[in-house]
Amino acid sequence: RRAHYAALKSRPSVTRDGIAITLLHNSGLVADLPMLDDTGAEGVGLFRTELQFMIASRLPRLSEQVELYAEAMEIAGDRPVVFRLLDIGGDKVVPYLRSTVEENPAMGYRSIRLGLDRPGLLRTQVRALLLAARGRPLKILVPMVTETFEFRQTKMVVAKEVERLKRAGQPVPVSIEIGAMVEVPSLLFELDQLLPEADFVSIGSNDLVQFLTAADRANPRVAGSYDPIGLPRLRAIRLVVDAAARHGKPVTMCGELAGRPIEALALMAIGMTRLSMGPASIGPIKEMILNLDLRPVREAVAAALRDGIEGMTIRELLAHWVEKQ
Ligand code: PEP
Ligand code: MG
Repeated sequence: RRAHYAALKSRPSVTRDGIAITLLHNSGLVADLPMLDDTGAEGVGLFRTELQFMIASRLPRLSEQVELYAEAMEIAGDRPVVFRLLDIGGDKVVPYLRSTVEENPAMGYRSIRLGLDRPGLLRTQVRALLLAARGRPLKILVPMVTETFEFRQTKMVVAKEVERLKRAGQPVPVSIEIGAMVEVPSLLFELDQLLPEADFVSIGSNDLVQFLTAADRANPRVAGSYDPIGLPRLRAIRLVVDAAARHGKPVTMCGELAGRPIEALALMAIGMTRLSMGPASIGPIKEMILNLDLRPVREAVAAALRDGIEGMTIRELLAHWVEKQ
């Protein structure tokens, strides 16, 4: 199968009926990056920067952060890398960062909340990203945005660091794009305020589904209880796709959904064309895309989302489709 998928890597990722789907990697370690050449993916849709912090025994210094980001961009070459700002807290534990015990860490002091509250950490990371990207384009993704003001404040931190570097006569990136993760349900109802300020958005289905269903993603007794492509969740994801289209901004799915065939089909059926996933999923997903007539699936799913479906789930509907191929 490996050799079979390897043979697909240079084929453009386009459905049989001509719809182009951008496939990207989720990553976090520099060691993963050379895999871009093996899979033929177009870039890194999600680089989880907290991994460097999680495997270290103390806070990585500015120079160590710069080195990691620069190496990642070097290996990626012309292919874009989206660096997500530190997403610490919840299931992502950094033992040497003193934190108080929280009853609900997933809903606690984490991610960009921590970043904005302890701006030293955030500023250092932003500076490292700017230094690493000197002379190149830089893409930054803000995790766990709950309200637009947090996104705006993060952009201000970035702007300040850019000014600082310029004043010091240091080179800066040739362009900077800043996007927001949509993974907290509240943000679903503020998309028309967020999107004019964002260069792109990326959906984190792992957290979005956890919070929509009030089912802890790390608790095996409930994590699988609600189908992430069940009608309510798929309707929620479609809100983001439709809002991004209204505002002419790119939207990517970077949650684990994108790497599973039936789920990826559901996402493409509601209009998503950018999927970011673990490198091992690229081959199977690409194979599905190459054999897919997407338009009729889009129609069937649109009808199901509009009217509901009698005696069948979206998953069953799509499973039929996959079998027919
Ligand atoms: C997500 O929440 O779906 C996501 C991509 O981020 P993480 O899994 O790192 O929380
Ligand atoms: Mg998340």
